[in-house]
Amino acid sequence: MNSTEQTQSINVGILGFGGLGQAAAQLLQPKQEMQWVAVADQTGYAYQAQGLNLQSCRNSYRHQGSVGHLEEIGTLSQTSIRDLIQQYPVDGYFLALPNLPNTFMASVVREFINVGWQGVLVDALKRTSAMEELLGMKQELAAAGITYLTGCGATPGLLTAAATVAAQSYAEIHEVNITFGVGIANWEAYRATIREDIAHLPGYTVEQAKAMSDDEVAALLAETDGILKLENMEHADDLMLELAGLCPRDRVSVGGVVDTRHAEKPISTNVQVTGRTFEGKISTHTFTLGNETSMAANVCGTAFGYLKAGTQFHRRGWYGVMTATEVMPQFVK
Ligand code: NAD
Repeated sequence: MNSTEQTQSINVGILGFGGLGQAAAQLLQPKQEMQWVAVADQTGYAYQAQGLNLQSCRNSYRHQGSVGHLEEIGTLSQTSIRDLIQQYPVDGYFLALPNLPNTFMASVVREFINVGWQGVLVDALKRTSAMEELLGMKQELAAAGITYLTGCGATPGLLTAAATVAAQSYAEIHEVNITFGVGIANWEAYRATIREDIAHLPGYTVEQAKAMSDDEVAALLAETDGILKLENMEHADDLMLELAGLCPRDRVSVGGVVDTRHAEKPISTNVQVTGRTFEGKISTHTFTLGNETSMAANVCGTAFGYLKAGTQFHRRGWYGVMTATEVMPQFVK
């Protein structure tokens, strides 16, 4: 990396201004290497070349329903993403959007390609089938001049990348087990995350979860005391680790416990990688996240680490799509 690559600040946009989008904007506040200049929610968008003000964006979103109400810099629109991305110069976007329906993220990516946008895109996508659709767009993304990094949240993301590092001790990987604990004080701060988690419960589909009203979600959570227990989830960690050559996807399992009434994690988040060394010893590496780190810290920190890495690829002329297991995230100063 040359000194120009290191010193050029990255102009960042955030698509989606819910739980993760707002946390992402807050996380960027003290950063020198990234400046938050663009944001879109479902009904509006805003852009400010010298950097957006977090508090004004939050006020506008919470009290008026959209960042599009911001005076002078905001615009209301039913096609907020397309309008924003085709008008303004932004180096990279974090897609903090709900993937409901399961094809939504791919349709957003198609908007970027259609308007001729070039730059870096990072998502925190969860479902295997959704990631397969994105990986299928590799040629189109490469031809469009877009560097796309997928699966760059916590799981998939931080834990999947950690599993790839841990696997280096082994000649054969027997099992990768990811267990997550999430604590959020109030489910409404992360509506899409919770709906997508409900879609993993036995008896539910993505379509059913998407169609549930807020009252129906609250009623379901009331039955379980605010707890969601998830097992054998369709999580793209399996596909990412298979593509990285660690093991067939059926050796990867993901599950967790989400408490929607307390900010403390109900259980520790960890990844365990079991394998056989070249000497024939069977062992397990465990990487456990600190209990004080929130879902938002682990997802958004990782997403921007990959956005920085993606920017370096983009500046060197590498376009296309990669997953979080193929690249090291770069720490954002
Ligand atoms: P949220 O419901 O809190 O917010 C979603 C935001 O997207 C809202 O601001 C909404 O206005 C906006 N939006 C919806 N449709 C839009 C459209 N058509 N155009 C523009 N904006 C639109 O969502 P959240 O809980 O922050 O979750 C975001 C995503 O992050 C989810 O898909 C979730 O699964 C994912 N996630 C990933 C991980 C991980 O570790 N990989 C962890 C947590 C969440």
